[in-house]
This record gives sequence, structure tokens and C-alpha cells, in this order.
Amino acid sequence: MNIAHKIINLDNSDYHMHSMSFSDGMNTIDEIVKFAWEIGMNEIAITDHSDEEMNCLIKRFQISKNAYRWLIKRWWNVHNNVSVIFWVEADILNEDWDICDTIQWQKSEFMNLSAHSGVYEWSKESINKAYKNAIERHHKNIKCVCHPCSNTNFWNEVDIEALIDLVNKYEIPLEINWSYLYNGKTNIEKLHIVIQKTNKLYINSDAHTLFGLKEYRKNVIKFLEENGYI
Ligand SMILES: [Zn+2]
Ligand SMILES: [Zn+2]
Repeated sequence: MNIAHKIINLDNSDYHMHSMSFSDGMNTIDEIVKFAWEIGMNEIAITDHSDEEMNCLIKRFQISKNAYRWLIKRWWNVHNNVSVIFWVEADILNEDWDICDTIQWQKSEFMNLSAHSGVYEWSKESINKAYKNAIERHHKNIKCVCHPCSNTNFWNEVDIEALIDLVNKYEIPLEINWSYLYNGKTNIEKLHIVIQKTNKLYINSDAHTLFGLKEYRKNVIKFLEENGYI
């Protein structure tokens, strides 16, 4: 089964990564952009965490935000020709349609939508209702639904077939998340269902380091090749 045609970014682009400027990555925006050029990328989306997830991370790990978000309006890539986009990795908050899609209270035009433990603290069973309501309400601004195949906590309750039907209806891609795959945080059975049944897919690093940005492609592509998908 060849699914190459369903992958939006088989070229050298990556639409999920974190910086130290605004969330929990190890590198500044400028370091990421310089390195992205060195490894041959042509477009990247820097998708730092939402305010709710950051509040949670600050409490747990005492990390800090380093830059003033408003300054991205004055930021331009002075290093190279990599196209740089700023989105937010928005958080599902509850089983209604509430999400947090701001960084320092500022919205981005588009978001990647995620659920994270610590932020989503409703009953495990309600996660399917939460995805449904959040996507139905916000689908116009959602570029990707991230790491749907995580294998911990409430994610085990995710009805992956129902989620696939929902994103297909709104033509939203699901994500093959390299970081979750590489770090053993992926339900492989569910990942195969996602790859086979979702109409649009992104391969994203969810990189928090330059290593992640560099290595994700090789590993996901190897996984897809080994399984006869590309
Ligand atoms: Zn995430
Ligand atoms: Zn992320």
C-alpha cells in the first residue's frame, strides 16, 4: 500500500517544533533557522506550546519563557532562504470546545491541535468528545492534529477510527510524530491505522533539539519504507 501521495511534506519541510524562545526547546529561533538551512530544509513551522501547557511545564520543571512573543512581528529571517512560519501548538482543555491557542495571550493565525496530560485533566473517557468538539468548533484554523497515537494516559482511550473520520471530514491532516515514535511513546497498531485510513498526513519532528530536527526524517522514512508505505 503506497501512501506517499497522502503525505503533505515528503519534501524538506517540518511543521512541528519547539524553541527555547517561547517554550521548552533547547534552541533559539535563530539557531533553529540557521541549522534548518544547513540540513537542507526549505520550510519550517515553529509551533511553541500554548500558555496553558507552559504554565503546566513551568510548575513541573521550572523552565522559563525567554522572549517577548510580540517581537515575532518584527522578526525576519536574516540568515538564509528557509521559509519560517509561527503557529502555536494549541491545547484541548476540556470536553466542551474550549482550547488554549495563545502564547503570551497572543493568538497565531493557525494552530496544531494537541491534547497533553497535565493540561487535559478531564475523565479519560471524555477525550473522544473533547477531540470532536474542539475540531468541529475550530477546524478552520487547525493545520494538523498532533501525536494522536500516543500510548500513555488518556490517549489509550482515543477512538482512533472516530478521530480519523472527523479529520477526514474537515480535510485536516493527522501527524506521524517522529519524537513520539523514536521515544517509544507511540501505539504502533494505531499508527498503522492512521497511516492507512487518514486522507492527509504530516511527518513532523516535534523537535526540541537540533538533533531531533536533523534525524526525524531518516527515521520516519525508514519506518514507512520498512512497512511498504513508500
Ligand atoms: Zn505535543
Ligand atoms: Zn510539540
